[in-house]
Amino acid sequence: MAEESKKVDYDFAAHERPLFDAWKEGGYFARSAGRGSFADHPFTIVIPPPNITGVLHMGHALNETIQDTCTRHARMQGRPTRWVLGTDHAGIATQTKVDKKLADEGVSRLQIGREAFIDECWKWRAEYGNTIVTQIKGMGCSCDYDDEHFTLDPDYAHAVRQVFADWYHEGLIYRGKRIVNWCPHCTTAIADDEAEYIPEKGHMWHLRYPLVEPIDGQEYIVVATTRPETMLGDTGVAVSPKDPSKKKFVGAKVMLPLVNREIPIFADFAVDAEFGTGFVKVTPAHDPNDWGMGQRNGLERINIFDETAHVVEGYGKFSGMDRDEARDAVVAAFDELGLLDHIEDHDHSVMTCYRCHTKLEPWESEQWFVAVDELKKPAAAAVESGEIQFHPARWKQVYLDWLANLKDWCISRQLWWGHRIPMYYCDACGWEDACVDEPGVCPKCGAELRQDNDVLDTWFSSQLWPFATQGWTSRDEVSAEIAANYPTQVLSTARDIMGLWVARMVMASEYCTGQIPFEHVIIHPTVMGADGKPMSKSRGNGVDPLRLMRDYGADGMRFGLLMQVTGSQDLKFNEAKLVSSRNFANKIRNAARFVGMNLDGYEPGAPEPTTPADRWIFSRLHRLVAHLDELYVDFEFGEITRELYAFFWNEFCDWYIEFSKSRLTADADPADRAVCQRNLMFVLGQAIRLLHPIMPFVTEEIYQDLPFDREAVPYLIGADWPDAAALARFEDDESERAIDLVCEAISAVRSTRARYRLSPKQALDVVVKASAEDAALLEAQRALVESMGNTASFAVASDAAKPESSAVVLAGGMEVYIVLAGLVDFDAERARLRKEREKLSADEQKLAKKLSNPGFLAKAAPEIVEKDRARHADLAESIERIDAQLAELS
Ligand SMILES: [Zn+2]
Ligand SMILES: [Zn+2]
Repeated sequence: MAEESKKVDYDFAAHERPLFDAWKEGGYFARSAGRGSFADHPFTIVIPPPNITGVLHMGHALNETIQDTCTRHARMQGRPTRWVLGTDHAGIATQTKVDKKLADEGVSRLQIGREAFIDECWKWRAEYGNTIVTQIKGMGCSCDYDDEHFTLDPDYAHAVRQVFADWYHEGLIYRGKRIVNWCPHCTTAIADDEAEYIPEKGHMWHLRYPLVEPIDGQEYIVVATTRPETMLGDTGVAVSPKDPSKKKFVGAKVMLPLVNREIPIFADFAVDAEFGTGFVKVTPAHDPNDWGMGQRNGLERINIFDETAHVVEGYGKFSGMDRDEARDAVVAAFDELGLLDHIEDHDHSVMTCYRCHTKLEPWESEQWFVAVDELKKPAAAAVESGEIQFHPARWKQVYLDWLANLKDWCISRQLWWGHRIPMYYCDACGWEDACVDEPGVCPKCGAELRQDNDVLDTWFSSQLWPFATQGWTSRDEVSAEIAANYPTQVLSTARDIMGLWVARMVMASEYCTGQIPFEHVIIHPTVMGADGKPMSKSRGNGVDPLRLMRDYGADGMRFGLLMQVTGSQDLKFNEAKLVSSRNFANKIRNAARFVGMNLDGYEPGAPEPTTPADRWIFSRLHRLVAHLDELYVDFEFGEITRELYAFFWNEFCDWYIEFSKSRLTADADPADRAVCQRNLMFVLGQAIRLLHPIMPFVTEEIYQDLPFDREAVPYLIGADWPDAAALARFEDDESERAIDLVCEAISAVRSTRARYRLSPKQALDVVVKASAEDAALLEAQRALVESMGNTASFAVASDAAKPESSAVVLAGGMEVYIVLAGLVDFDAERARLRKEREKLSADEQKLAKKLSNPGFLAKAAPEIVEKDRARHADLAESIERIDAQLAELS
């Protein structure tokens, strides 16, 4: 591995780019024309639009590989195929980038104003927004680059306004004062599912609130809170109606310290009698639970913070403080007044902004909401009925749970970059409406109108992605693209945007088109670092796909990534798989070179299996295609790569090419040579088709280099996928069994040679004991075994006896005896093996002791322990092998 992982000095991109350009110029990336039995089964896939701020990361690399594999496979099947490409304007992400750029230039967004700022965003997009598309091209992705979309394109924006207006007019969008998760740094609302929870070591402050009238001699009650500063906005104290000890307090009043506000004590079922002291301070404007209690009990909602989480005017010395300063000051003031009862340590989790990691503030503000109850019904039904299928299937329940718990969606964002909410207001007469097109002046009084200042949540526009990119304009008109090619077939995405994006697309599509947006949802594994932890800069375990493409080629990266996909969700990135994928690409290239060098006098023609080896490989080919067809239906990409690898390397290269060599020599029968050439070209031609969806470049290169029929099919990307039904005529169980036996027997001879360090030139006496049936099959292939096994004599029988002094290999249900008498000094060999066994056994015992030491296990890093365990298993296996060999020699 150390040897193999050395960098190769090969400019992959220089070989790949011309092929990519040729495909593009050949028009292969636009929707393909259908042909054959799949002509009426269009295949459409929409890319999860990368943010214009994005650069290719490992998640994209895997996801784009999966999508291109599906797309190329469908195109070769003859389905009218198109992979829709585009990028997302990414509201907060882009605004943050542009803010930073301006800050570096010494100006701020507020100084230059909204219009100039949006101009800056467009400039930024023009300069950097296409980086990721260029990188996707480098991977060889066969997207429709001539019809690229952007979520702020004029037609796309029109669709967004149309949906907003429709939902508004049907009462599915409403405005309301709600507690939202507010980021005081980004000064915008953040959706529930965009918030991140982080653990915090905090405190629980116990504060005394004096009762206006003492009750049974009690002068004050005690409330417990993790956020004492919010007491400035308290408008009530709640107790549980299930707590009899609190009954006498209900209806009484406390005098809120510091602000001298009289507030009531009331009972509400939302109170947990076990929490703290049983008295709960209620701050309706700064806590979602309190907001609900406030609604039910008619409490005033007092907002004590401005949009940057500083205390507003009217609170004396506290006004102008930020929330942390206010907390210290409030606690100090309680302490001074003798009202600080005590403080406890308290660990809890806090919500932070996913963008800037500032603690979010539950903050009451006026926002726009989507009422989701009606929209989510068809979205749940489509998945429950199986109309939409998840791969792996367990994501179905995750999706349904997410929908079941979905609350009304806050869609307004206090940003400038994005789709400005198409609500227009007349300050003169109070008229207001949602308008798809700019209404000009007030239709009622002719006064000037004011448009809403906020923009829509980015997910509001990306939920329209599957149909807004395909010509959708309104529910009353059906675009040609949608009529012919909707719903799409596959959506491949990461699990973390399952709710944010996948479910919302289903809701929006059901409403806007009356159809599901896609039939299959692939939730691909998350690519973790080699240490099994999420890739991150701070951990230093990240991997750059651009570097991988330079070192292994796009093909090597694609194949190596898919090789690592298994049913389990996380993918622990293993670069060794890319090394073996690059070696595999080389193997493919070398096999093609061998075929190419042996085509003297080649005449194209139909393949014709004339030898058992031909019949075997043709039959294996049929079996492979039929299996791959099944695997593609289930999107089993890892298994697809393993099947391809095993066929091409172990069967085609290791055996079929070897079997063919004697038929290609100058003194071989010319007629048979011609047959052999055609058969090699046929199997290679089918194999590169099967490999093409995953390794597009090396396969196309071979197709262009060898004498394939480029008049009929100029590029492999446009070639037919091998047809399992047509290949079924080559099915031949008997030849498969016969050649399997040949391969097993030869391998047994070869491995014995290696075990006893005998020269390949040393001819050996070989005896095989097999069932009568197998013996007959093998006997018929005697010539192959003799020539490729280099045997001095070869005998096969069902009653064969083990010759004196012979090695024995159990293989494929046979016993293969290789005579070693006169070739191996049995005494010396035994002595050598015993010595080796002693050494290994000492190592094994030392390691076993270490691994049973609890001190070592407790202290050592898990990867060290794992490594030692693997080494221990290796040693034990080697010892077993030596024992078997010693038994053989006794
Ligand atoms: Zn933020
Ligand atoms: Zn008006």
